[in-house]
Amino acid sequence: MWYNGLLDLSVMQLVLVALGLTHITIISVTLYLHRHSAHNSLDLNPVLAHFFRFWLWLTTATNTKQWTAIHRKHHAKCETEDDPHSPVVLGIRKVLFQGAELYDEAGTEETLQRFGQRTPEDWIERNLYSRYKMLGIQLMAVLDLLLFGVNGIWIWAVQMMWIPVWAAGVVNGIGHFMGYRNFECSDNARNISPLGLLIGGEELHNNHHTYPNSSKLSRRWYEIDIGWGYIRLFQLFGLAKPKGYRPIAHYVPGKQEVDVETVQAIANNRFDIMRQYRKRVMEPVLRQQKSLMDDEIRPRYRKIKRLLSREITLIKPSEQAHLESALESNMVLRQIYEKSHELQELWRRRGLKPQEKLHALMEWCREAEASGIRYLEEFADHLRAYSLRPSS
Ligand SMILES: [Zn+2]
Ligand SMILES: [Zn+2]
Repeated sequence: MWYNGLLDLSVMQLVLVALGLTHITIISVTLYLHRHSAHNSLDLNPVLAHFFRFWLWLTTATNTKQWTAIHRKHHAKCETEDDPHSPVVLGIRKVLFQGAELYDEAGTEETLQRFGQRTPEDWIERNLYSRYKMLGIQLMAVLDLLLFGVNGIWIWAVQMMWIPVWAAGVVNGIGHFMGYRNFECSDNARNISPLGLLIGGEELHNNHHTYPNSSKLSRRWYEIDIGWGYIRLFQLFGLAKPKGYRPIAHYVPGKQEVDVETVQAIANNRFDIMRQYRKRVMEPVLRQQKSLMDDEIRPRYRKIKRLLSREITLIKPSEQAHLESALESNMVLRQIYEKSHELQELWRRRGLKPQEKLHALMEWCREAEASGIRYLEEFADHLRAYSLRPSS
């Protein structure tokens, strides 16, 4: 039929085509704009990088410099008035439904100057992509109509909605609003789902804010980052190279001695250390104490569990009262809570000399061992095994 366009596809085929086209767009955003351009955590072959840039011009009218600058500013000013898209500051509705408008507002000359370094300013950028920003999506509309006939109209509409909804809305909104936290990074970032398939792995937003320089966004064995799958695939053909960033820290089984390197390794690996503290000390102790807690606290058990390990700057005043009352009525909880903050002093306090930090850690371990709390004793033992070098 003439109205089905040159390809004359069935409905099923059209749906698959729409999903395929938008998938390429998502991969372009996560690999090229996000991991390569904004965070410099991934090297891309120039031809592949240019393909992504061209594809984003064609399907989203996105400018690399603008996107990169706004995103870097988001990390630098996270959850403050200057964050271009924080649901904590602006409210979830605004970020979820007006995510794309927020990008338009945020792309000021000052932001581009300050945060837009190392982005393309070549001939084709000046004379085509930036100069005729909307021409790409207009061309796409013509292509869709030619190939898919009248169905090209909705395919094009889906393409135009995909990034504003999934990236600007869901990742920037939900990713700072609800979901689980592997790590207590200093902002409100959350993992939306352990399966990073639909939005290219960007679902794992808490992992990303904790380790922004890592080109791999999954951290636990059950998490999937499809973007990382593509990076590995491109790497096989020599088209991509992750710069990879892992905190320098090794666990050396059997190591008993605390030394300056132990302190350094723990500080490097602090987000994971605090996660382990939550799993190995806080949660089992809390389970143990549950039966001893009075009737007032027991119904708030889950909330208290969450607050005990919450990054301190993220605890709201109303939550502070819950936490205080739980800590006041249970000495063991208070003890493990205070020990967690004493441990964090090792990297939070500025200006301490390595030797002073070493003494602080040794003292921490000594007190943990004398605490009479088995989980705390075991954790002190566990910390001692950290080093900057793997076991030889
Ligand atoms: Zn974010
Ligand atoms: Zn980022």
